[in-house]
Amino acid sequence: MQIKLFGAAKTVTGSCYSLVTGKDRILIDCGMFQGSKKEAALNYDKFGFNPWDYSALLLTHAHLDHCGRIPKLVKAGFKGRIFCTSATKDLAHIIMLDSAKINKYDVELENKRRQRLGQPPREPMYTEKDVENAMNLFKVIEYNKLIKVSENINATFYDAGHILGSSFIQVGVIEKGKTTTIVFSGDIGQENAPIIKNLEHIQKADYVFIESTYGDRIHPPIAERKQELLNIIHNTYNNNGKVLIPAFAVERTQELLYDINELVEKNLIPKINVYVDTPMGIRVTEVFKRHPECYDKKILELLKSGDNPFSFPGLKYTHTVKESIKLNKLHESCIIIAGSGMCTGGRIKHHIKHHIWNKRNTMLFVGYQAKGTLGYYIKRGEKRIRLLGTQVAVKAKIESIESFSAHADYKGLLNWLKHFSPKPKKIFIMHGEEQAMIPFSKRIEELGLKTRIPDIEEEITL
Ligand SMILES: [Zn+2]
Repeated sequence: MQIKLFGAAKTVTGSCYSLVTGKDRILIDCGMFQGSKKEAALNYDKFGFNPWDYSALLLTHAHLDHCGRIPKLVKAGFKGRIFCTSATKDLAHIIMLDSAKINKYDVELENKRRQRLGQPPREPMYTEKDVENAMNLFKVIEYNKLIKVSENINATFYDAGHILGSSFIQVGVIEKGKTTTIVFSGDIGQENAPIIKNLEHIQKADYVFIESTYGDRIHPPIAERKQELLNIIHNTYNNNGKVLIPAFAVERTQELLYDINELVEKNLIPKINVYVDTPMGIRVTEVFKRHPECYDKKILELLKSGDNPFSFPGLKYTHTVKESIKLNKLHESCIIIAGSGMCTGGRIKHHIKHHIWNKRNTMLFVGYQAKGTLGYYIKRGEKRIRLLGTQVAVKAKIESIESFSAHADYKGLLNWLKHFSPKPKKIFIMHGEEQAMIPFSKRIEELGLKTRIPDIEEEITL
């Protein structure tokens, strides 16, 4: 069989694998490239394969860099089945629709520029209609159940503990009566993160394709973060200020609510309102409410006792722009959770404009800020920023809690690998920047395993 890598090779995003045997052709993930302009431009390239030749796609999880090009794939002729968990299907629907909207807006802007240069207009990557067409191909599967993908390929999805519904996938390929087992890690979560179940461990794999986002890092312990959050809320309340938190709509917003709920229920923080001011975050929280099958024991016990972390005194979901604007005029202390996570768009930009010049307020980062984003500059300590056509002085307190991460650090990844027995023949290192992949590959080799860091479009014969 041949496995060809059409993304996430020596880079973090654009996950897309092609698995071809003499009889079958399937894909694993079809994600979007994100990051620099050069990388984002890759999304407009034609696929390096014929989408109509493939009979199935296995989707690890709903993050954009894993599902974001699925509607483009369907638009280009893919007619196979898309297998994933039920929660992944619901989240992917929201994420792909949002992506179609953003893409429409971006292409309109780009086409104005092209028109001025006398260049032909660009077509949107896909539309909301293409998303709906893709949704018709989704087939929901259950964790831990072997499914037949095609004549000679089967697959089992296991909980990856990364985001709601996330999976790593064990694929069995039968050739000449012999089965070869390949595991695709998707993204691997941090142990003991709230809400979702922990990462599962399995034994059987001849080959493993593993992510390496944090292949060179160790996270601070999760247990410390509630105390940090409590201190930040207290200090800001004592200054009669507001806490602004830019947060990703999937998982991070819900984890924050989970932690704040505990502080509220135990009366550890003053009585203040908490506003979830992100339409997408609200939609995603609704999906979380619908999928208790993905919950860990702790949240299930909490719910049984009558305590719902997505609904507590003072928690308000702001649906309309009007409600959002009202928050700027509030005089009392409060917490505002708003998207986007790196401050590149969404309602958080308006809150920054109205609050960051005031030293009473706090801006709290709970997620990775990519180089070049507004969040990156604020977190770095810029004294003056430019946004929404104006310059604003940064006087608010800038805080950061580093232990919120949906990805395992290298110790977590190595621990997951150690459970495979007998030892896999080779570990392919994916989804990472080279500076993280190289030390990570050395650490894997110290376990007595062979590694390879493949190039984009490399074809691997197994
Ligand atoms: Zn992910």
